[in-house]
Amino acid sequence: MSKKLAVTFKPYERTPYAYDKLRVCRRCGSYTVLSPDVCPSCGRRALSDVPAAARRETRRSMQSELLFAALLTLLAMFFAGSMPWIGISAAAGVLLIALLGFAQYRAFEPQLRIRTDRLFARDRDRIRHGLIQDIRAAEARLDTEPARAYEMLREVNTLLRNDPIRGLQAELLQTFVLRRDMDLLVEPLLMDGFSPHLAGYIGEVARLNRELIKESSIRYCLRYEPQIRSLPRGEEILASVAGAAVRMKRYIELYPEFIRRYAHKLPEDRLERLREALSQHPGSLEPLKLEADEVYRVRFGGRSPRGGNRA
Ligand SMILES: [Zn+2]
Repeated sequence: MSKKLAVTFKPYERTPYAYDKLRVCRRCGSYTVLSPDVCPSCGRRALSDVPAAARRETRRSMQSELLFAALLTLLAMFFAGSMPWIGISAAAGVLLIALLGFAQYRAFEPQLRIRTDRLFARDRDRIRHGLIQDIRAAEARLDTEPARAYEMLREVNTLLRNDPIRGLQAELLQTFVLRRDMDLLVEPLLMDGFSPHLAGYIGEVARLNRELIKESSIRYCLRYEPQIRSLPRGEEILASVAGAAVRMKRYIELYPEFIRRYAHKLPEDRLERLREALSQHPGSLEPLKLEADEVYRVRFGGRSPRGGNRA
C-alpha cells in the first residue's frame, strides 16, 4: 500500500442553499463554483452570485417597462393636438408611471423569485458546462495538489452530485492521512454504486469521529455488506460502523442484526455501550442481547473488564 499523504484542507463552508456557491460572470456569462471573484473562463474580476444577477435582470426589465410608459405618454402628448389635451395626456402619463413604479416596488420580491427560477431554467446547460470545466480544473491538479483537487471537487459536488465525482473524492481521501479535526464529510459522498474507496473511507471516519456516521452511511454498508466483507480489512470497516451505530438507541432498534453480526469485533467501550443500551430494553432485541452477553462472557470470563471481580 502506498504511503498516505499528510495534508490539510479548508473546512467546508456550508450555505443555506446549494446554489449560493454558484457564481456567474457578468462579462462572458460562464458559471463556476470555484472562485468568488475571478472568472476562470475569461480571467476578469466580474463574478457575481446568482441572486445578484437575478436582481440586476429584474431591475433592468422594470426599467424598460417604465421607459415604455414614458414613451407612451410622450406619444399621447404628441398626438393630442390642443393644449388642454396635451396637459391631460401629460397628467395621465405621470399618474400611469407613478402607479407602475409603485406596483413594481410592491412586486419586486416575487418578481425576483420568478426571475431567479427562470434564470436557472434558461442557463441550465451553461451551468452544467461551467461545472464540467470546474471538474476538469480539479482533475488537472490531481497529481500536483491533491488536497486542493479534493477541495475543488467538494465544491462542485454541492451542485452536481453523481457517482464519478463522489468516487474521485473518496479515492483522494483514501490517499490522505485523515485526522479527527478535519472537516470530514460523509453523506455527500454516499454513492449509488459500490466503491471500495468509499467503504474504506467510511470505516476510517467511523473510527475517527463516530458522530459523523448517520443512518444513510449505515444503510450504505448494509446494502454492500458482502462486497465490503470481501475487502482486505472489510470486517474491520463493518465493525467500526457497527461500533459507531451503537451510540444511538434508534440505530440499535433499526439495525440489531447488523450490529449482532459484528458484536464479536466491537472494542470494549463499544460493547459496554451496547450492553448498557440493551439493558434499558427489557424483553426486546433478544438475539442481540444474547450475542452481546456471550461476547462479553467469552472475552472477559468471570472478571469485569476493569480488573475487578464480577459476581
Ligand atoms: Zn468571464
